[in-house]
Amino acid sequence: MDKKTKIISAAVLGAAAASLPVRAALHKEPKTDVPAMPPEEVDLARYRKNLSDAIKIKTIAGKDEASTNYDVFYEFHAFLKERYPLMHEKLELTVLNKAALMFRWPGSKQGLDPIALLAHQDVVPISQGTLDDWTHPPFDGVDDGEYIWGRGALDMKNHLIGVMEAVETLLAEGFQPERDVYVLLGNNEEVMSANENNGAVVMCKYLAEKGIHLDCIIDEGGAILPVDVKGVIHKDLAGIGIAEKGYADIEVAVHAKGGHSSAAPNHTALGKLANVIRDIENHQFKAKISPMLWQLFDTIGRNVSFPVKMVTCNLKLLKPALTLGLSYVPPAASMMRTTTGVTMASGSPQANVLPQRAAAVVNFRIYPGQTVEDVLAHLRKVIRYKDVEINLLPGWKNPSKLSPTDSRAFQKIGMICKSMNPNTIVAPYLVMGGTDACHYQDVCENIYRYSPFRVSTSLLLTTHGTNERIPVACMEAGVAFFKRFIRELSKAEEA
Ligand SMILES: [Zn+2]
Repeated sequence: MDKKTKIISAAVLGAAAASLPVRAALHKEPKTDVPAMPPEEVDLARYRKNLSDAIKIKTIAGKDEASTNYDVFYEFHAFLKERYPLMHEKLELTVLNKAALMFRWPGSKQGLDPIALLAHQDVVPISQGTLDDWTHPPFDGVDDGEYIWGRGALDMKNHLIGVMEAVETLLAEGFQPERDVYVLLGNNEEVMSANENNGAVVMCKYLAEKGIHLDCIIDEGGAILPVDVKGVIHKDLAGIGIAEKGYADIEVAVHAKGGHSSAAPNHTALGKLANVIRDIENHQFKAKISPMLWQLFDTIGRNVSFPVKMVTCNLKLLKPALTLGLSYVPPAASMMRTTTGVTMASGSPQANVLPQRAAAVVNFRIYPGQTVEDVLAHLRKVIRYKDVEINLLPGWKNPSKLSPTDSRAFQKIGMICKSMNPNTIVAPYLVMGGTDACHYQDVCENIYRYSPFRVSTSLLLTTHGTNERIPVACMEAGVAFFKRFIRELSKAEEA
């Protein structure tokens, strides 16, 4: 480098460095007008009582019709009818798939796409041997003043009863939607049967056959997470799920001669299988920061405190390093790629018998944009043996489509979140598990997965686990959100 170039380079660098604080200071979220919304009436005492009583009804769905106790679901329906009389009087109720409930609140204007609020009635059972670990029994619905305890307190009777409360209160206030409002309560979300037995699938088919296209859907998936890093950020992050990952269990199997273990070869079928597993694990799917994840990082980056902003305003330059670094952190990597988890393996049935067949099961969570077919092709490519058996096991599903972030529904959800708490940042989010919402893709493009409850990450982890419970403190805002959602989204205005 000659002297002149050096001087120019130094000047450019100096200018860049000098402008950094300015750039960092300007690195903010674009200002949006958040209209003040009038306060919403919420009957918190009734909500608490009804959630607590709803938990007492053990709505556990079986894998199929034969193994499901429908009486408990009918008991739940009778309970809803008793507690929400206006809703049952004023809305049309259609029961499909024996226990799925479809409420329709007719709008005052014709020819508009309806909106829908989804929830599932079923809950998962308690894992064997964990009952004694619970502080309060999982089906007693104990309300100790701080928490309501029990299975379904977060997934998702809190959400279901919250929606019922919102509709009942709006009816009592004489509210009349312009669009039709559907409340669609599935009966077997947790058993993941994407077949004709699935309540959500049946309800979607019913809508499709009637030619009904939905304007938007809200279901479980995202939540309000407190993001607290001392001196860096102190915000509530409303993560709105705009897509969910796919799912596939794939068995890989190798064959060998078998025989007596006293005459074992250097490598048995299991030894060969070990190579197969290594090939799979050594060829992870490529991680990338999708526009959705980028929007999440960028939004957070614009909300951190000043010194940290000197870094986050340069996020674009850091993208390659960030991608590489995050791909080594499993929870972050799962937001960036299809994940590969070798979970089960089998060989011969006895210690002194050589295996004739050795097999492993690999669980894949498929990234939006890829398909089960892509995963199978990937395996065929990376496994060194061409005679390996590759079997797709039942229960797979492709990832959902991406819902847009510039739709009327996404914008309104964000606006409601911010109007309720100005310290909220709203960002799109990828849901790792499955929801009923993905079954509605044929009748709706604007599907958002969001439970409007402020719950810490550690508490969220009690979902499907021990001591599932909801803080009473976040419940009132949940119902207020649903009321506003219905008020705003049921308006006739177009996207
Ligand atoms: Zn759920």
